[in-house]
Amino acid sequence: MMNSLKSLPYVLLVLCCSIGMAQRRSGPVLPPNPLPYDLLLQGGHIVDAKNNIDGVEDVAIKDGRIAAVGEHLDTKDALKTIDVHGFWVTPGLIDLHTHVYAGTGERGSYAGDNSVYPDGFTLRNGVTTIVDAGSSGWKNFPDFKDKVVDRSITRVLVELNIVGSGMRGGNYENNLDDMDGKATGEFALKYPGVVVGIKSAHFTGPEWKPYEQAVVAGNIAHIPVMIDYGSRRIERPLYDLVTKYLRPGDIYTHCFSGNRGEQDANTGGPSKALIDMRKRGVYCDIGHGGGSFAFSVAAPIMASGYHPDSISTDLHITSMNGSMKDILNVADKMILLGETIPEVFAQMTANPAHEIKQDQLGNLSVGAIADVAVFSEEHGTFGFFDMFGAKDVGHTKLVCELTIKGGKIVYDLNAIEFDQWDAPKHSSDPALAGHWTVFDERPFGSQRSSRWPSWIPPSQRKAAEGGKPQ
Ligand SMILES: [Zn+2]
Repeated sequence: MMNSLKSLPYVLLVLCCSIGMAQRRSGPVLPPNPLPYDLLLQGGHIVDAKNNIDGVEDVAIKDGRIAAVGEHLDTKDALKTIDVHGFWVTPGLIDLHTHVYAGTGERGSYAGDNSVYPDGFTLRNGVTTIVDAGSSGWKNFPDFKDKVVDRSITRVLVELNIVGSGMRGGNYENNLDDMDGKATGEFALKYPGVVVGIKSAHFTGPEWKPYEQAVVAGNIAHIPVMIDYGSRRIERPLYDLVTKYLRPGDIYTHCFSGNRGEQDANTGGPSKALIDMRKRGVYCDIGHGGGSFAFSVAAPIMASGYHPDSISTDLHITSMNGSMKDILNVADKMILLGETIPEVFAQMTANPAHEIKQDQLGNLSVGAIADVAVFSEEHGTFGFFDMFGAKDVGHTKLVCELTIKGGKIVYDLNAIEFDQWDAPKHSSDPALAGHWTVFDERPFGSQRSSRWPSWIPPSQRKAAEGGKPQ
């Protein structure tokens, strides 16, 4: 009895928290929507690179899928319409290079404390899909899947590390005996659509084995290989990696770091390795991270017309508070270096989807999963710094206004989906809001006919509304 009494406050606390914080609709009964659309985003500037759309149109969503894209869709056909005039509307962003194997408690490890949980860093930036780049290998992937992949709102796809133990530090990552392409590839085959690539990273030795074995695994599972080329070694030149070892369709990340021969020493532009790898179809991925993006490298390479195929963050516990911050900050840097806004969106949607052979993502085709993001564009004076603490100043900043995952709003910066708190009634039926948002609507309107609290007598309300003194 004493025990149960003692635990009562705790139970109440948990209950209160779950009610107060639980914005998510989990009610089993949601009346069907008889209309053609659940949600209509009206009048935004759509950038859908896969479908060559770059202009003002509407997007309609029904049952978690894109239902229509076109000019002047009828608002009467939707449960809810949100005016997004003046905003950019894109497919949900895809971040190809992140580290999110948090929660193991392992110190100093990307399969542990160096990782972050995805949902706190993705949805608020318009990111709906991420790829964890090799934090786990085939030996600890099941634990990673249980702890993070299966529990996140964000769609978490995975590149398995060629090291069976994953990204747990130098002793593991340099262990040639734990790099088994056959075991890794056969394991990857068990998780199609989740394991979408093989990663090698941080290798310091002179051997080619990590890259050879990564390609062995990639060939078995028919998935691409992403390379963080580790220490620069004269025994294994970058040119040979990208022209002899990697296959067309493989991904070279950290491609603007300058750490391993990406930049031509004379011209400052792209090295022959970067130029020839592009000719072969090996992709150039940014992978900004904490130490993989330098203005002194990126600016001259970009000025020569060599742009990345994909913008990714290399999100982890230090890059997010350092020069990287988030994917939009990286995109802002690319805009500062001369890219257009439609170009950076392509590099965060259709391009990365294609690189990992997940072309069903990253577009707004009718029938596609309704992952959508809405952005505003701010103008001003904005400072950005790089891995060396060198600064540049830009004048455009992308801000995520709204993120939709699987047809439902999961992030709303400026409350653009909601009604004013003292509006007399809802603009849409709150009983059906579960079709288009995860947020609960406050029960006013039909359930509360007045903005006055119940303890104020009707005579006083009337007098106040009529402006008469009491
Ligand atoms: Zn990384």
